[in-house]
Amino acid sequence: MSVLVVNSGSSSVKFQLLDPVSGVSIASGLVEQIGEPEGHVTLDYLDEETKKTQEIADHGVGLAIAFDMLAAAGVELGSDVMAVGHRVVHGGEVFYRPTLIDDGVLKQISDLSNLAPLHNPPNVLGIEVARQQLPDVPHVAVFDTAFFHSLPAAASTYAIDRDVAKAHDIRRYGFHGTSHEYVSQQVAEFLGREDLNQIVLHLGNGASASAIRAGSPIDTSMGLTPLEGLVMGTRSGDIDPGVVMHLRRSANMEVDAIDELLNRRSGLKGLAGVNDFRQLQRHIDDGDADAALAFDVYIHRLRKYIGAYMLDLGRLDAITFTAGVGENAAAVRASALAGLGGFGIEIDGERNAARSRKARVISTDASAVTVLVVPTNEELAIARAAAQLVRSEQ
Ligand code: ADP
Repeated sequence: MSVLVVNSGSSSVKFQLLDPVSGVSIASGLVEQIGEPEGHVTLDYLDEETKKTQEIADHGVGLAIAFDMLAAAGVELGSDVMAVGHRVVHGGEVFYRPTLIDDGVLKQISDLSNLAPLHNPPNVLGIEVARQQLPDVPHVAVFDTAFFHSLPAAASTYAIDRDVAKAHDIRRYGFHGTSHEYVSQQVAEFLGREDLNQIVLHLGNGASASAIRAGSPIDTSMGLTPLEGLVMGTRSGDIDPGVVMHLRRSANMEVDAIDELLNRRSGLKGLAGVNDFRQLQRHIDDGDADAALAFDVYIHRLRKYIGAYMLDLGRLDAITFTAGVGENAAAVRASALAGLGGFGIEIDGERNAARSRKARVISTDASAVTVLVVPTNEELAIARAAAQLVRSEQ
């Protein structure tokens, strides 16, 4: 039996059908540009790509087209699927493990939208339409915040008035948890050790770092929202909160405009005009000084977190790079860990430059800390979590 994984964003829905045991992906697809005249649904089934372009009025229409395309390819979701796993960004204080969705749970996820206004509403929409289309299949929510629910209080607490924090659920929640958990488990398996002290660097469009001791996270770079921490494709990461007040007072910017600035027009995009790392690298090669500075700021922030987490952990066994940039950009990996031989961290140039889609070690044999590249697979982790929960309920 397979699991359908749904990741619903504001104008797109990613879906994948996979076997949770073997990890084999049976079909995957993407509904894009929902609400625009020229929407697309793309389906990859057995390496064959089919694409439909038409107006996609809303998420429901998009998913219905996708399910019709799957049926035309011979996949009957109603009978073949044991569960639908939904990626949900914010689980707040309430959800810290995969949860079977009923009307009450859906309402609670929806209520958490005030903490994640950009993410939870489209997640809720995806759940609603998938439940309408597949009413007889169990639906499971898997939360991006769940893995970090047990962060030590010193790492999860902001130093602000505790009554204000309590009244408004303000704490550091952390995100990309499914990826940090999956990748750190892969590293433990790969190295054959459970008691590892590790740093995981998830560097995609969004980016986050975590420090993990024997499977439990002790710190992570994202906070109340996915805006804190590393420099990202379009997000600033850490800034002095005074910048927000300054923009409000001196530039007369409304809160929504500041939100948009920091989430969508900052990071690499704000500094160099592009958020895609491949483009950034091309601009650097062409001698673009803004692109070179953006790269330096990105690396500077990354190294700051690596250094902090090394001290947090005390002893460090492994550093792992994952996600689009982490898995592919050798220059980022080399720069992030350059000159750290004194700390027992030594990258092997040839291993680092070799291209592969598999988990691999890129440190020298003499390096005390093992440096790895491990492809993340959030869909598989969600599928496994959903399948496990559904089996345990039967
Ligand atoms: P997300 O899931 O957060 O949207 P991904 O993990 O897919 O993001 O990562 C997207 C980022 O990975 C983009 O900035 C993209 O440029 C970068 N990336 C993908 N392939 C490469 C590559 N070969 N070299 C450098 N960067 C790459």
